[in-house]
Amino acid sequence: MKMEILERDENSLRLRIGGTNAAFMNALRRIILSEVPSMAVDDVVIIENSSTIQDEFLAHRIGLMPLKTDLDTYNLPENCICKSEFGCNLCRASLILDVEAEDHTITVYSGEFKSENPATIPVSGKIPIVKLAPEQKVRLEAYARLGKGEDHARWQPVSMCAYKFRPIVKVDSKHCDLCGACVEICPKNVLLKAGNKVEIKNSDNCTLCQDCMDICKKTPKAVEVVWDENSFIFSLESTGALSPERILSEALNILDGKLKDFLEQFAGKENEK
Ligand SMILES: [Zn+2]
Repeated sequence: MKMEILERDENSLRLRIGGTNAAFMNALRRIILSEVPSMAVDDVVIIENSSTIQDEFLAHRIGLMPLKTDLDTYNLPENCICKSEFGCNLCRASLILDVEAEDHTITVYSGEFKSENPATIPVSGKIPIVKLAPEQKVRLEAYARLGKGEDHARWQPVSMCAYKFRPIVKVDSKHCDLCGACVEICPKNVLLKAGNKVEIKNSDNCTLCQDCMDICKKTPKAVEVVWDENSFIFSLESTGALSPERILSEALNILDGKLKDFLEQFAGKENEK
């Protein structure tokens, strides 16, 4: 397997991975979406809510707010030593929201939450939660815990995670009459007309739509789009709960654990024979 980092910033990662197959890529994608834990509010105790938004809607909005996740401090509630449904400070973090609009309408943002653990805070302080008219009030306590995307989307650490086959774009300059139609139609600007030939600017951006092939009047086509079935472009966008690198390494550890478990069970069955 060969890997190359194409793009990387605080919340996103784009890789080119070669020498593998779609089964592996899909396993990785599914583990990231459904099994890498992250922190989210799971329980809300509303003490006072005189806004126009119902308690249930308010709780739902708060639940979908991504929280910075410290995987090394917190335990999944089912694995925590406390074995309590109420949780302890190793499996639960509480956040308090206490706001009142005095004489004018205000918007309450995620940044107003006060957390008992300064490391467990909303990833952005600018997520609108509720609007309050003068004299309206919201007082509540929210309890966050680690969870998995397979139970609810609020625990998905990514807003996007996808792969595609690595595109291979070829231009046959002997057949090309330089009409430029393929350059025009490409939605991702993969092709470029430079001097007396059509060049390939960035084939990794190609979405395999093949519009360039359809519009080419030549027979055989002067432009060809194919893909390598053992090479992939993998993109991941974190919600901000965890770094993209951590999401990837957690997913690989989970996959590794599954394979070890499988081998152990297989060895056990072999010994029984
Ligand atoms: Zn606990």
